[in-house]
Amino acid sequence: MTQLTNVPNPADFSHVRDWVFDLDNTLYPHRVNLFAQIDRNMTAFVSELLQVDGVEAKKLQKQYYLEHGTTLKGLMIHHKVDPDAFLQKAHSIDYSPLIPHPELGEAIKALPGRKFIFTNGSVPHAEATARALGILEHFDDIFDIVAADYVPKPAGETYDKFVALNRVDTNRAAMFEDLPRNLKAPKERGMKTVLIVPNNLGETVLESWEYAGSEDDHIDYLTEDLEHFLTALNRAL
Ligand SMILES: [Mg+2]
Repeated sequence: MTQLTNVPNPADFSHVRDWVFDLDNTLYPHRVNLFAQIDRNMTAFVSELLQVDGVEAKKLQKQYYLEHGTTLKGLMIHHKVDPDAFLQKAHSIDYSPLIPHPELGEAIKALPGRKFIFTNGSVPHAEATARALGILEHFDDIFDIVAADYVPKPAGETYDKFVALNRVDTNRAAMFEDLPRNLKAPKERGMKTVLIVPNNLGETVLESWEYAGSEDDHIDYLTEDLEHFLTALNRAL
């Protein structure tokens, strides 16, 4: 089982030249819960589009998420929804719960090589989020759901698209994510994988990890503090 640690072995990362970060719940803590706002906006969008009440809208929203990986993909297939209109509405949120995190910015900046955001959200959402955290300037590029042709992680083809577009050598890359399933494809492609777990839920999450047994073979590291993990890594590299 992967052990929880904030102190990575530098030998595992000394070859890495491309650093790939998920956005939501990875670059800011899970407890900020921006998703609750996005979730409400998506429900409102579905409700307005299909002229159904909130309960019915929520049901459809979740059904599409389960069947197609994102609510948007389901809306595009079944209702020919304009993805731009949906993404704009979904991400019309209040970013003020995000607190600037200059130490994280410094840690990302100090990593040797390129840094990417790879998100199932949109570029405007990623930019607004990273700007609110004060870390936007440290990234070379953002790969979003539009660049992915609306096929979300964890689909392998979407990682391949990201890798090809940016000429990433997956054997010299690392990926940071809060969803275990999104680390399977990068691990299969040779990347180092780091799972970020919520620190306020640490014990609960760890317990469920123990139950998972060997299911976490695709996770190289498990940390509850991205900033400390990267700072320790920079010191050792
Ligand atoms: Mg995430």
